[in-house]
Amino acid sequence: MSYLVLARKWRPKLFKEVVGQDHAVRALKNSIIEKKLHQAFIFNGTRGVGKTTIARILTKVINCEKVIDGEPCDLCQSCTSVNENSSIDFQEIDAASRRSRDETMSLLETVPYMPAMSKYKVYLIDEVHMLTKESFNALLKTLEEPPPHVIFMFATTEIEKVPATILSRCLQLNLRSVKEEDVTKQLVKIFDEENITYDKDSLNLISKSANGSLRDALTISEKVISYCEGKLDKKSVQEVLGIPDDEIVFKALEILKNRDAKGLVLFLNDLNQDHSCERLLDNLLNLVQKVSIHQFSENKDSELDIFSDISPEYLQFIYQIGIDNRQYFNSTADPQGLLSMTLIKMVAFSIDQKKNFSSFLDASDCIEDNAEFIWSDVFIKMKISTLLKQILFYSSARKKEDNIFISIQADKLKRIKEVHKKEINFSLNEIYSSSINVSYDSNLELEFSPFFKDQATKEKESNEAKDILSADVGFKKISSALEINLKNINKR
Ligand SMILES: [Zn+2]
Repeated sequence: MSYLVLARKWRPKLFKEVVGQDHAVRALKNSIIEKKLHQAFIFNGTRGVGKTTIARILTKVINCEKVIDGEPCDLCQSCTSVNENSSIDFQEIDAASRRSRDETMSLLETVPYMPAMSKYKVYLIDEVHMLTKESFNALLKTLEEPPPHVIFMFATTEIEKVPATILSRCLQLNLRSVKEEDVTKQLVKIFDEENITYDKDSLNLISKSANGSLRDALTISEKVISYCEGKLDKKSVQEVLGIPDDEIVFKALEILKNRDAKGLVLFLNDLNQDHSCERLLDNLLNLVQKVSIHQFSENKDSELDIFSDISPEYLQFIYQIGIDNRQYFNSTADPQGLLSMTLIKMVAFSIDQKKNFSSFLDASDCIEDNAEFIWSDVFIKMKISTLLKQILFYSSARKKEDNIFISIQADKLKRIKEVHKKEINFSLNEIYSSSINVSYDSNLELEFSPFFKDQATKEKESNEAKDILSADVGFKKISSALEINLKNINKR
């Protein structure tokens, strides 16, 4: 089965078969039913959303011998001749290849002649924005006083390049990107009919990759079908499209969350060459967006919970860098390099400006013997279980020579068993590269605890983030449009 077969076979032949353009289709059907026919139409929209397909259906219906409820019969000679590209009264021109004035002039010279078989002669000019200025002028003269037997239809992906004088003489129909769910529904219909087996994940991946273009969805489907020999599953689709696993994307955000420069280097080394770097960045930004929304949602039982402690400001920061760098994928010869530099920037330039990149790479796990004892700094370096991290987060400590006295609230102290004490001891020995004696008491001084330090740092980061965001021109525009007040955002 080739792409042409699938795409041609499933190209809508009636208005009711068009997917995701209900507003445009309804307007056209109504004008047919009410017999209010314009002489020039312009269809605007991104690639593969149905511009020329709708224009062809419109061509059929205005010349059809047996219109039923605003739809062409699709059986009469006029309808079939359009379907078979054999109608002499229907001219389809691609302005991208025939754009010179002479060519436009020779086309327009045929306008005064009456149609051979049909009621109307139809000129469909695709990518009309590609016409030269002279061609537009020649066209404008005809549009100012078109003979009653002629209909013009234009299609464009860049309507802003079409002169206003032309636009003002056309009925403009803006076609939308087809919604992902609509693409999926149509794929289900096609796959079922074509006896292609698939699962939900593979469908969703194809719909998502099609970016609102049903034609692209079919092109992708063709590729995947021939690769998977008619049986689609998530893994095969990912392989064909170079889509990274969710696991990899989660790992990337985990690394960013921990500002883990060493982990990032390993991550980049391990990155599969088959993955599309652009898609990986896209999926990462998509995840960042989901996490941001999740942080403000009531539902707290989700796989995204593991990212709930990333500050909203840092998520904004990652997103901004990603969006800024994304555009360069079109022009770079080294997508992997671009992805690497983008992720490094996200890790290295944290909102806390003091933590520059070199300090991340040089950060040692050891502490000099004569260094000032700051418990929260020691705590960060300790390699201990999450449970112990949680308990020691609310502890204070003093050090005298090789003795460390850890103070914890009495009820928490009870939870520290012998095995935990060994773990703590081992970790501290490692940090100081010597044998440390640890003892425990309940004389907690919370102001010297990691918890207290963390609160102070968060407050400071939040203030710095507010300053950075307040100075950002883009943010100013967005915030004034949404009436966001930064003071309120941080009170979470
Ligand atoms: Zn017909």
